[in-house]
Amino acid sequence: MSALRSIGREYKISSTKTGDGKMADRVSRQGRSKIMSGIRSRGNRTTEIYFGKQMWAAGLRGYRKHPQITGRPDFAWLGSKIAVFVDGCFWHRCPRCSQVPRTNAKYWLQKLNRNVERDREVGAVLRARGWIVMRFWECRLHLKSNIKRVALAVEKRRPGANRRLVMP
Ligand SMILES: [Zn+2]
Repeated sequence: MSALRSIGREYKISSTKTGDGKMADRVSRQGRSKIMSGIRSRGNRTTEIYFGKQMWAAGLRGYRKHPQITGRPDFAWLGSKIAVFVDGCFWHRCPRCSQVPRTNAKYWLQKLNRNVERDREVGAVLRARGWIVMRFWECRLHLKSNIKRVALAVEKRRPGANRRLVMP
């Protein structure tokens, strides 16, 4: 099932909870736009494509997309153990711009907080296994420093990169 369809299903479930079948009318304009922006970011993955293009332009290569490891990072260098997540502001509760929809606020708060909790757990698990974990917010993807951080990590984990430091 595509991410978009699964979101559609969640959407329906929450509308069933209201019991009146008029979910669309009951969601505030603000809430609806947040929901739609969430669907955009998870549905067609524009943020991820944008980030991938930036990495490519910076000459970064050798990553895999959505490998089957804990948390399924958006990008990962498996050998170097570097995981990159591009987080949608709505779904991951960006402190700068995410807002919980007013309608069904309790449902959304629980759901979104679970995502945040999961992100934290995924980060902890990966770091405990020696991974460098980086997360970038959808609303901050224009920053050049993002790609610089990734490039630095890749360089740091490049085979032989630390040899100079340990040899006399
Ligand atoms: Zn944001």
